[in-house]
Amino acid sequence: MTTDAIAPTRSATTAAEDTGTSRFLASDNTSGICPEAMAYMMQANRDDDLAYGNDRWTQLVTDSFRKLFETECEVFFVFNGTAANSLSLAHLCQSYHSVICHELAHIETDECGGPEFFSNGSKLLNAPGPNGKLTPDGIEQLITKRTDIHYPRPRVISLTQCTEVGTVYTIEELQAIREVADRHDLQIHMDGARFANACAALGVSPAELTWKAGVDVLCFSGTKNGLAMGEAVIFFDRKLARDFDYRCKQAGQLASKMRFIAAPWMGLLENDVWLKNARHANGMAHYLAERLEAFEGIELLFPSQANSVFANFPEHVLTALRARGWTFYTFIGAGGARFVCSWNTTTDLLDGLLEDIREVL
Ligand SMILES: *Cc1c(COP(=O)(O)O)cnc(C)c1O
Repeated sequence: MTTDAIAPTRSATTAAEDTGTSRFLASDNTSGICPEAMAYMMQANRDDDLAYGNDRWTQLVTDSFRKLFETECEVFFVFNGTAANSLSLAHLCQSYHSVICHELAHIETDECGGPEFFSNGSKLLNAPGPNGKLTPDGIEQLITKRTDIHYPRPRVISLTQCTEVGTVYTIEELQAIREVADRHDLQIHMDGARFANACAALGVSPAELTWKAGVDVLCFSGTKNGLAMGEAVIFFDRKLARDFDYRCKQAGQLASKMRFIAAPWMGLLENDVWLKNARHANGMAHYLAERLEAFEGIELLFPSQANSVFANFPEHVLTALRARGWTFYTFIGAGGARFVCSWNTTTDLLDGLLEDIREVL
């Protein structure tokens, strides 16, 4: 990706003294590690411990997830979101099954066939839907379109929360989808690359937004919330988790020093830093969205419900912004320029962007 060119990066601890050289709004993974997570990384490095997840950090964080989700879930740590999604979907499917997802879903458009590869061929079935969301009707149509033996049998519905276009499924929407799932004996997988932002946007608890609304498996991203790396795959139905550790190992996702993926999570989970980070990111996106909307000739493409803003700009504006060093993507979701805010985005940064837009418009 040309937008990932080497450039000076913002330091996690000196955001206040930012020199203005950092112009990263392409994704929430351009941000560094948040100080709370970094502190736990250092702490985990004080003493040696057992390998392959048998260490005390992995146990501690697993227990903390159980507290956070108010249930005895099974928790596994993997390196990135593609692995979390691909392996959890593979675990829910036989190779002759299919996964229903939105046509803009990350698993469909941005994982290089990972879910199909790790499941030995489970097919992704795509449905359209407004604002990046699957609808009960769209799902029902894919399921009932064919019921014969020649069609890959639907087994899982995969929902992205927040969606790829920065919108959020409400609890009611999730419940309606669960009803369809129940009618057809399907499981629900949630790609939670921005799960924290969804909790913050809706003001609901992680339990309410997952198992209480019928989600069976959640891929909860730490990376986009402030870790260096690491996603938690959380099974709410413990039976479904059986042998998932073997699947991770076979796929090269069992970190021998797992404690260094697990321990930084403690920095997010303690004192609800994950929620604080998400609220901050969402707040910054709202700040940007409000001001962008006020410009003549700029149109927001989707309601900005979490930490990203999608907008249509005249092409010359995009070119000029890139020339001034701003990074943003234009290939995500349905097109348009996407700006993503994170735990360390500042109003200064956004004011700089707005000022540049004003100048080049
Ligand atoms: C970032 C992201 C992922 C994970 O991507 P990786 O690069 O594999 O960590 C998954 N789903 C969505 C919607 C994302 O935005």
